[in-house]
Amino acid sequence: MAGDDGGTGVARVTTICWFRRDLRLTDNLALTAAAERGPVLALFVVDEVLTAQGAATRWRLGRSLAALAGELGARGGGLTIRHGPAAETVARVAADHGADEVHATDWPEPSRHAADHRVADLLARDGRRLVLHAGHTLVPPHRIRTGSGGVYKVYTPFARAIRAHGVPDAVPVPPGLKLVAHPADAVPDLAPDMNRGAAVLDRHAGPTGEAAALDRLNAFLPAAGGYHQDRDRPDRPGATSELSEALAVGEISPCTIWAAARRHLDDPALSAPAEKFMAEVIWRDFAWHLLAAYPTLPTHAWRPAFAAFPYRRDAHDEAAWTRAVTGEPLVDAGLREMFVTGRMHNRVRMAVASYLVKHLLIDWRVGLAWFADTLTDWDPASNAMNWQWVAGSGPDAAPFFRIFNPATQAARFDPDGTYRRRWLWDWQGSTSPDAGDYFEAVPRSWGLDPDYPYPPPPVVDLKAGRARALAALARMKRAQTDPDSAAGAPP
Ligand SMILES: Cc1cc2nc3c(=O)[nH]c(=O)nc-3n(C[C@H](O)[C@H](O)[C@H](O)COP(=O)(O)OP(=O)(O)OC[C@H]3O[C@@H](n4cnc5c(N)ncnc54)[C@H](O)[C@@H]3O)c2cc1C
Repeated sequence: MAGDDGGTGVARVTTICWFRRDLRLTDNLALTAAAERGPVLALFVVDEVLTAQGAATRWRLGRSLAALAGELGARGGGLTIRHGPAAETVARVAADHGADEVHATDWPEPSRHAADHRVADLLARDGRRLVLHAGHTLVPPHRIRTGSGGVYKVYTPFARAIRAHGVPDAVPVPPGLKLVAHPADAVPDLAPDMNRGAAVLDRHAGPTGEAAALDRLNAFLPAAGGYHQDRDRPDRPGATSELSEALAVGEISPCTIWAAARRHLDDPALSAPAEKFMAEVIWRDFAWHLLAAYPTLPTHAWRPAFAAFPYRRDAHDEAAWTRAVTGEPLVDAGLREMFVTGRMHNRVRMAVASYLVKHLLIDWRVGLAWFADTLTDWDPASNAMNWQWVAGSGPDAAPFFRIFNPATQAARFDPDGTYRRRWLWDWQGSTSPDAGDYFEAVPRSWGLDPDYPYPPPPVVDLKAGRARALAALARMKRAQTDPDSAAGAPP
């Protein structure tokens, strides 16, 4: 329990709440458990897990951290921020403050788990404990199992199982929360290495922090009557919740979102969209369920046959894709939206990813890494599951032979070109300020210039790219039946 500092200048508390990707006070079971034991020391560590992550997600986390520090300050506490390896740093803070327990929300990502084991081991040497709590997903990833105890590999039965299991109610901010009062540490720049105009990203960022996420949820749901029909339309901003960033850093919990959506199920005007929205939130849980069961999901093809898929290595085409000058308007618009805002519409993500893997025949891991460095809503589970879904190599994935045609997708989901004009300078004479911002955001070394007419010549003819992709698939299949055939050779 908290006690007198004995004149040492160091407050003596028993409990630390170690914030990671749960930067909120509502529905934070780690904070609730810590608060039940007395005053809470709020801790954040810039550790080896965080510094290994992409620049954009660290940038976004830094903004969220500033909001959390402000909230804790307003409640009479401060956020202790330390830099260093998780185990040694957490153990030192615990020892300095005489804390026998450290509570944290489980972030069920493999490198986090490995680090958490090191933390728990080091704390245990001094008789202290690391206590992990659920809260990053609707239901902890290992809790949902098939009747025979196996891992669900298909979304629909998984979704049924989650609903049958039930989602816990969200808990409020711990009543009477008492924080250890001490001067807050300055929130550091977590992404000093970001190789892109942070000023542009800043201009396009939405409001940050827990209060802003709850406001967004409460504004979105009552007006979400068209969600189930409009969620595929990138030309209709606001048609989706735009809560993925807040979920990624834990400003809002999925259980809070679930409870809010459930309240609309009885409203005839909102029940269908609320159902669809809840189904999307379950996709996020499905991704975490898969990542927890298959920790190599971000690095290895889940279907063994795809380990030998004959991808091309082509630095020119890869650069054209990352720099958003493929000459395919929907693809370039999506990649520019991501570079300017840190986000990209889901339908466009699918088209952009499919174009890379199928029309350009470039390994999905190239795209996954680019998204991981560039998305402010980066989520290791959703990113890996979706890339493998597009590549045809994941569980419950789209078959490889189903190849999105980006031009047809554009005609269907951006019929009058609103989205493409917004992000593509000069396309159909566009002078949209958002499109102009792309040239301010990109590194000078890319040599891009708004004076170049758009579109440039296409990197690949869509028909030829499709034929090449199908030929590669046939070669992969041939290699399975006839190992002597040259699956690994370039097509
Ligand atoms: C190649 C690719 C990579 C992706 N990478 C990420 C990523 O790194 N981080 C990320 O959060 N999402 C990722 N997604 C999923 C999806 O694009 C985003 O979750 C969605 O665009 C977020 O917008 P929203 O919050 O307005 O979604 P809404 O339509 O409002 O959906 C509500 C919530 O449901 C979840 N959700 C929706 N669609 C999906 C989906 N396909 N898979 C998993 N969860 C979903 C998200 O948490 C989302 O915030 C990726 C999709 C693709 C095709």
